[in-house]
Amino acid sequence: MSKWEIVPVDVGTLTVDKSEFTYMRNCGVQMYVPNIVWFVTDGERQLIVDTGAPDPEFSTKYHFPFTRSSEQEPEVALRSKGCDPSKVEAVITTHLHWDHVYNNHLFENAQFYVQGRELRYAIDPLPIHMKAYESMAIGMSPSFITDTKYNILHGDKQLTEGIFLFTTPGHTPGSMSVAVETAKGTYVIASDTVPLFENWNWPTAHMPHLPNGIHWDLEEYFQSFKRIEEIADFVLPGHDPLVFNYSKYPPEDNAS
Ligand SMILES: [Zn+2]
Repeated sequence: MSKWEIVPVDVGTLTVDKSEFTYMRNCGVQMYVPNIVWFVTDGERQLIVDTGAPDPEFSTKYHFPFTRSSEQEPEVALRSKGCDPSKVEAVITTHLHWDHVYNNHLFENAQFYVQGRELRYAIDPLPIHMKAYESMAIGMSPSFITDTKYNILHGDKQLTEGIFLFTTPGHTPGSMSVAVETAKGTYVIASDTVPLFENWNWPTAHMPHLPNGIHWDLEEYFQSFKRIEEIADFVLPGHDPLVFNYSKYPPEDNAS
């Protein structure tokens, strides 16, 4: 039986318009959402899924209002959850949007993984997506070019026993999700493909899942929802404060 557990680590708070996450809905509704780094461990091995946003000053200047307390500093927050960044063996980058790719210098001994399709698009995105990728076309220096040497994936990958990386394009061309086998079923870390629990549990009979407001291709997006349905027993969304109702997944019995 797999002993993998997933610990969501809160590394800051973004202020967003809810329509960013709920396609064509909730314009003008302000929402505070967490910036999450996912720590995955079996008690010995340590993996990370996504590495969070840059510092609040930079994030707020170029993107959305962003706060980060001293406890939410990525290294402090990770160590408080039992993660030793120098012992992390793999960092999985679900996609290359700015709030998922910083702080990689903490993981000096890790192998980094991203989809090739994502990297290609991130280098030359459409104008509507240039800010999210901190494109050189608008005079920025994207950290995925300057800071990190990636292992480039072309499709699904069984990273190790119990950890399956699979492509879920839609939010971006090369988005991927991470299936983690646990003692209580398969959890899928869906990142921004499913930003909030309500995206996954959308109450419309013909459309049980709602895409992110920020998206690349809706046809691929709905195919990706089907893939997640097939693989997941439980889905962990990318920016939902309710994720922190539990300190880890699977939750301990009687935990809250
Ligand atoms: Zn994103």
